[in-house]
Amino acid sequence: MKMHCWKCETEMRREEDFFHGFKIMGWKCPACKEIIYDAKDIQPILQYNKLKGSKRGLTVTVGTLGNSKIVRIPKVAEQIYRIGKGNKLRLDLEPERISIRVKA
Ligand SMILES: [Zn+2]
Repeated sequence: MKMHCWKCETEMRREEDFFHGFKIMGWKCPACKEIIYDAKDIQPILQYNKLKGSKRGLTVTVGTLGNSKIVRIPKVAEQIYRIGKGNKLRLDLEPERISIRVKA
């Protein structure tokens, strides 16, 4: 797939970039530095940004699967971090807290 800059028509490059602090892939123009993102990549981040303060901490309910306890990954988190079946997540165990790290 090729993409040309709408400003200067230079061929754009697929590059990692940060959008509101989240790492996503975008098309970057090497000439004028214009960046284009896919709507499907930025939509969940914009949705996340609308959540204020405490709402960013999402409450999930513990379920069971066999003898194990399970929690669901909320849709907004799945979309932002592009979490799929088989992905490895790292749980950091701390006093009073479990943090989930993406890309362990
Ligand atoms: Zn350009």
